[in-house]
Amino acid sequence: MKVQITYLYHSCFTLQEDKKVLLFDYPERGIDSTLDEKIRSIGQGSELYIFISHAHGDHFSSNVTKFSTSAQETHHVVSNDVPKETIIRDKAVNRNNNTFTQVDPDRNYKIKNLKLKTFKSNDAGVAFLIDLCGKKIYYGGDLAKWNWPEWSEEKVSEHVKVFEDVINELKNEDVDIAFSNMDERLPSWAGPVEFIERVNPHYFIPMHTFGNEEWIDDLVDEEINAKSEIFHYEKPGDEFHFKL
Ligand SMILES: [Zn+2]
Repeated sequence: MKVQITYLYHSCFTLQEDKKVLLFDYPERGIDSTLDEKIRSIGQGSELYIFISHAHGDHFSSNVTKFSTSAQETHHVVSNDVPKETIIRDKAVNRNNNTFTQVDPDRNYKIKNLKLKTFKSNDAGVAFLIDLCGKKIYYGGDLAKWNWPEWSEEKVSEHVKVFEDVINELKNEDVDIAFSNMDERLPSWAGPVEFIERVNPHYFIPMHTFGNEEWIDDLVDEEINAKSEIFHYEKPGDEFHFKL
């Protein structure tokens, strides 16, 4: 299968495979009208899946429903911490064959042509493990190695345990594509090296840079003991094409 991933900003990406388009964590700020147009053209006539991992403004805007107008059908997959009214007040959500599914952590779902498993995040909301035509795609949202130096040892170890438990589960899943955080505000960068070495996905997409795309250069320069290919994007709109 041919896959195209497009970086928009921060943790917002599209993943395109034939007529299916997955849009992840469209934020309140940081995406201009040119990039909006790009998202619309990627989603034109597609079977669009809008994923919202949690309600923080750097991952969610109620305006995300605007992309359903150019799609053939839209399936909204929304974490249960996002107030339902903020999404379904848009009539487009209920149009045609569109669906709206509010998801809880640690559950399994079938949404049109996708199978989905959710994990509880150690920040807010959920992470997703998506089965797309037999290929496995992990999208972490804000599930990451949050070892903030100002936190107590106990608080850090609680958070790290949640992250590592999910890594241990993913190790047995043969993950094809993984989106997980690369955030240089943390001493661990929020865990990308550990994630890649232990889960060993075919393709790794670092995220959560707040527009500091140069952080990705540091990850690419790092000695990592794994064969994963990293999406080395430099600016919003950059694309990554590969075959699975
Ligand atoms: Zn975040």
